[in-house]
Amino acid sequence: DLASTPLIRATLVVQSDAEHFLLVSMHHIISDGWSIGILVDELTALYNAYIQGIPPNLAPLPIQYADFALWQRQWLQGEVLQRQLTYWQQQLADAPALLSLPTDRPRPAVQTFAGAYQKFALSLELTHKLTALSQGQGVTLFMTLLAAFDTLLYRYTGQSDILVGSPIANRNRSEIEGLIGFFVNTLVLRTDLSENPSFSELLNQVREVAMDAYAHQDLPFEMLVEVLQPQRDLSHLPLFQVIFLLQNTPLAQIELTGLTVSDVPIESTTAKFDLTLAMETTDAGLVGVWEYNTDLFDRRTIERLAGHFETMLEGIVANPHQRISQLPLLTEIEQQQLLIEWNDTQVEYPQVKCIHQLFEEQVERTPDAVAVVFESQQLTYQQLNCRANQLAHYLRSVGVGADMFVGICVERSVEMIVGLLGILKAGGTYVPLDPDYPTERLQFAIEDAVVSVLLTQTRVLDRLPNHQAQLVCLDRIWAEIDRNNQDNLTGIVTAGDLANLIYTSGSTGKPKGVMVEHRGLFNLAQAQIQMFELNADSRVLQFASLSFDASIWEILMAVGAGATLYLGTKDALMPGAPLIQRLSDDGITHITLPPSVLAVLPVEELPALQTIIVAGEACSAEIIEAWSVGRNFFNAYGPTEASVCATIAKCIDDNQISIGRPIANTQIYILDADLQPLPIGVPGELHISGAGLARGYLNRPELTHEKFIPNPFSTAPHSRLYKTGDLARYLSDGNIEFLGRIDNQVKIRGFRIELGEIEAALSQLPEVKEVVVVAREDRPNNQSLVAYVVPQHQNLT
Ligand code: AMP
Ligand code: MG
Repeated sequence: DLASTPLIRATLVVQSDAEHFLLVSMHHIISDGWSIGILVDELTALYNAYIQGIPPNLAPLPIQYADFALWQRQWLQGEVLQRQLTYWQQQLADAPALLSLPTDRPRPAVQTFAGAYQKFALSLELTHKLTALSQGQGVTLFMTLLAAFDTLLYRYTGQSDILVGSPIANRNRSEIEGLIGFFVNTLVLRTDLSENPSFSELLNQVREVAMDAYAHQDLPFEMLVEVLQPQRDLSHLPLFQVIFLLQNTPLAQIELTGLTVSDVPIESTTAKFDLTLAMETTDAGLVGVWEYNTDLFDRRTIERLAGHFETMLEGIVANPHQRISQLPLLTEIEQQQLLIEWNDTQVEYPQVKCIHQLFEEQVERTPDAVAVVFESQQLTYQQLNCRANQLAHYLRSVGVGADMFVGICVERSVEMIVGLLGILKAGGTYVPLDPDYPTERLQFAIEDAVVSVLLTQTRVLDRLPNHQAQLVCLDRIWAEIDRNNQDNLTGIVTAGDLANLIYTSGSTGKPKGVMVEHRGLFNLAQAQIQMFELNADSRVLQFASLSFDASIWEILMAVGAGATLYLGTKDALMPGAPLIQRLSDDGITHITLPPSVLAVLPVEELPALQTIIVAGEACSAEIIEAWSVGRNFFNAYGPTEASVCATIAKCIDDNQISIGRPIANTQIYILDADLQPLPIGVPGELHISGAGLARGYLNRPELTHEKFIPNPFSTAPHSRLYKTGDLARYLSDGNIEFLGRIDNQVKIRGFRIELGEIEAALSQLPEVKEVVVVAREDRPNNQSLVAYVVPQHQNLT
């Protein structure tokens, strides 16, 4: 009859808190640690008394849990309740719904609670330093650790409004100190890191946040959620998804007469939150546990995170006045791997040449091999070189020289290749002008680049805009050009000179010209020849419009390797049956296509086609699956500003899709907004450095300055980084995953478009008051630009 003995208190507890009792040994699951402490104390007292045969001596309790519950219900009303509510409503106003930690897998639509945990221990030295820092700053160790955790979350997510949950014992009245029962409450601690404070400034803020929260700890969390009515989403908890706790009153040693007591480790396989950091002070220093949701995170990811937390704590005690954006995150081993090993791409070329010299060397080697084929026309390397030389000599005679912009507005034809080589050989920079582009766009480029000589063909003359340039109509003046010298020109161009000027969309409403140097394209050609195993037997299709930098990639791939370049009319290259026919008839071995083109091609055998390269936009698994079997399949990534291509992945059907690794003499850095390198798995802006970087944007010094920045990771003079605006992250094997854009640039059917350019153009219209443009893909593989307009007048239709 337990009811009549003093044991009743303990017995009831053993039943109701049985789980908690077991959890004592785990130290990290949220439980009312206080109750457990009392439970253990009482159990010890009772057991020891029983063994010694003396009556137990437990102090009588002034009140019971039920008394407290009743009191709380009466007290937490009216003004008292309102004060608490008001505080929390203000404190949590407009809080972000979700802390977007970078996960290894997409977040399930409905939250799961499968979990695992990982223990860690900080050295006694670091523990002492953290304690000393806290004392010096007038904060508790809890506050210091929370501030460090906040900073870690900020650095991982880029979110500066951080909400972390934290349980609080809530035993702030002496009558309830000895009670067993669930008093614990959860506080939401919200920190604003947007001003990039120093760590010690952050500590001040965290102190205030925590003190205010303690002063309003009486409002039960459930009531708070009820009142705030946050938008509920089954995929995550409301208000906060990560939690921090510090147990700093170590459990007393349990001494049971005649017994040895030891911990039983319990394997936890659940996680109540996305991520829990539970720490505890011990005589040997701070120890802790990371508990995580295994549907979101891999063990390796949490291991790395734990390492980053420790690196950061070391950095904090070393210099608490450092800005939180600058605190170290990566361990030394990681720094070495990310910044150096994975960027170790150096390849020395005997001599860096101009791209037309690469071609000229092939002419020496295989003068009689076929260089270019267009419909029924073809030219050998020798013939192509002679013609290009004649044109170059002619262009010299009309004033073309180094770094001078020469327009070329032609359709795909042999003349296109002759014209392009002729311009380069004469020292000029070719400016591709697609005759299919709108007149205004062509006119803008001609004026922006001050094109004074313009190569063209009779059949596109009527599509040219008004211009002041001297026209060289290639098909008309051939007789005159024919009289020129056929020899190579020498000593005119060097690798540092410009090769082409490629216009891309600009957010201000005007396109911008990217100035690409020979050096970068030469490096590209070397990388391609090596990666794609090109040789004299290769047959390369020229598919891209000359206006896209992808076209020079195709051309170099062929003429730099002694292969044959196949050109086709626009009709012959129509994605679908015509293109397939062309690939089959010409026995094309190498093609480069945007994935959106490949997606609409009927899958055919095409035995000759050994190598497919997708580029320009993200590629889906289905496309790789359909086209990679039995051949080499590459995903090439890069912006025009880095000479076409910066990274290449060799795709194998069931691998995670990636854009691979940097090509020769190229470095990639994935950085946060403060240019700090981010760890594996954490998304950031992809930055490119190395041989391929363009000189900058023509006539746009500020924009050049903004996008091409000094390279903080290199000691080489003048080393620069190009800020791509692409969002990416490292996979753990060093390959890079492309994740999208950080701005409003899109790719539509291969066209790189800044939505801002279209918005700027539309807002010029007098009828338009406001406009937003988005890219939509309502039907798969069918993207379109859609403008939403607020008319100036209601009756606009
Ligand atoms: P462009 O300068 O026209 O070649 O466009 C460059 C942009 O296209 C890059 O900044 C990316 O946003 C996108 N892009 C290029 N290649 C890839 C790729 N392989 N996967 C995903 N996006 C790509
Ligand atoms: Mg490109």
